[in-house]
Formats: sequence, C-alpha cells, structure tokens
Amino acid sequence: MITSHTRLVGLLGHPVRHSQSPLMHNTAFAELNLDYVYLAFDVAPDELPHAVQAIRAFGMRGVNVTIPHKVAILPLLDEVDPLARQIGAVNTVVNEQGRLIGYNTDGLGYVRSLVEETHLDLTQQRVTLLGAGGAARAVACTLVQQGVKAIRIINRSREKAEQLASLLRPAADVQVVEPNACQQAVESATLLINTTSVGMYPHTAEMPIPAEWLHSGQIVSDLIYNPLQTKLLAEAERAGAKTHGGVGMFVYQGALAFSLWTNAEAPVELMRQTVLSKLRQGGN
Ligand code: NAP
Repeated sequence: MITSHTRLVGLLGHPVRHSQSPLMHNTAFAELNLDYVYLAFDVAPDELPHAVQAIRAFGMRGVNVTIPHKVAILPLLDEVDPLARQIGAVNTVVNEQGRLIGYNTDGLGYVRSLVEETHLDLTQQRVTLLGAGGAARAVACTLVQQGVKAIRIINRSREKAEQLASLLRPAADVQVVEPNACQQAVESATLLINTTSVGMYPHTAEMPIPAEWLHSGQIVSDLIYNPLQTKLLAEAERAGAKTHGGVGMFVYQGALAFSLWTNAEAPVELMRQTVLSKLRQGGN
C-alpha cells in the first residue's frame, strides 16, 4: 500500500516505456514488505539537470539511470564511486541525506551472474570482447578489477576500442585486434563476450562473428537479453560451448541497486522469474 511514508525510487531514461525495472523492483519491494515504490520517468536530455534536482527536492531515495543519461549525469552528482568514475558512467544513484552518490552496478551485476551461472575462474580466462561501447566499458573495467589478466578487443570502430584499451591498461594485458586477426582472437578465447547490440530484437537473425569460429572449449556470453537466446548463443550451444545470456546481468545490476537503496538483500530468484516471464510473454 502506498502511504505518506512510502519512499520513491525510479528510473531516469529516454525512452523508458520498454523497461522491466519497475515491475522487477516493485515485485521485490512487495515480497520483502518494504515501503518503496519504483516509477519510470521519461526525461529528455535537456531536462536531466531538473530531474536530478527533483531527486533532492522530492527526497527520493535514489534512481537508476539509463540511456542516454549514464554519462551526462556524472557532473550533476555530489560524489561518484571509484569504479563508476573509471567506467565513466553511472547507472545507480543513492540519495544520502541530500548528497547524491553515483555507482555503476552493470559490471558487477554482469560478473556476479557470469560466475554464478558458469562457475569459471576469472583469473584463468583469455577474454575476447566484441564491442567497445558503454556496456563493454562497465564489463571490462569490472572484469579487470575482479582478476581477469588478458583481454582482446574487437570493435567496428577502432578509435573506441583503443580508448577502452587505454582505460584498462596497465592493470591488464589488453590489445585491440587487427581486422585480419579476428578469427584467431575469437578461436583462442576461453571467454568470448558479445557487448555489441548485434542480434538484439528485432534483428534476431544477425550475429557479430561467423558461427564457424565457435568451439566447445569456450564460454560464450552475450549481454543481450531480448531475445533470451541470441543467434550467437544458439550457434555456440550447437558448437558445444557453454553459454551465458544477458538476463542475469540485468537482474543482478538491479539487485545491487536494490541493496544500495534499502540495505536489504534482494530476492534475486523472484526478480529473475519476474523478468523471465515478462520477456517470454514478449514484453519488449
Ligand atoms: P553502445 O554504447 O551504443 O555500444 C554499442 C556497441 O555495439 C559498440 O561497440 C558498437 O560499435 C557496436 N555495434 C552496434 N551496431 C553494430 C553493428 N551493426 N556492427 C558491429 N558493431 C556494432 O551500447 P551499450 O549500452 O554498450 O549496449 C550494448 C548492448 O549491451 C545492447 O544490446 C544492450 O541491450 C546490452 N546491454 C545489456 C545489459 C544487461 O543488463 N544485460 C546492460 C547494458 C547493455 P561502434 O563502436 O563501432 O559503434
């Protein structure tokens, strides 16, 4: 029940109407009897400073931040945690008595889900990353923070790949892959991660690399969760590889934000089932 004590959290993005976050968080609040409500706010880019001021004015407990505000919000906050600062993007804000603190739970959510679902030892992986956008930055910075030692980056535009590589060095052995060396970099990877949007709904017949490069000695991970099984993951499964989809990352980035706001442990399984059943119904 919403009362005069109910605490408000929400999502700042543009667009936001496709988001599964309100359903996932409100289901979790109800399960734990927490007096919170989560709403989605469609905030145009030039309204972002007003929306951030509204977090303070309304005494909101915090927000999630999504496209296109993850980078633009940094200078509007009072404090940004070191990992989010390195990634250069914030996806979660906590309001501590008027001080707005920015975090990035995308990378940690990804790593938690990857380790839980595949039981891999991060320190032993040769990682090849497809893509060098915002999600790639969060995932790669967190992988290195959590012990990955070698990363190869394949990206359509070389400049962005070089930028990501310099962000990660010298903490790890990082190289941008030359166009003629992509096959070798994919085949030699023990962990192949797709962070590009290639294969995402509605372009579900596409995949970022040829299926022939995949093999059974690999873990193949895709950040995309719509569709639940991308063409890349279907081909990887056919080749005998272990696969990991994007839903776990979405659930855990939300679970980490949930705990930052409420100090409670999130009901992760309920959140996962809530999102899965919505996606299976075709909730885009
Ligand atoms: P972004 O910053 O726009 O980056 C997009 C990346 O995809 C860039 O590396 C881009 O290459 C590449 N790309 C796009 N179209 C391409 C094409 N036709 N051919 C080759 N490369 C292409 O987006 P993002 O925020 O990082 O998101 C990337 C993906 O991750 C999306 O599918 C998103 O749904 C997913 N994601 C999932 C979660 C989750 O919770 N599971 C969270 C965040 C993101 P260029 O640099 O050359 O443009």
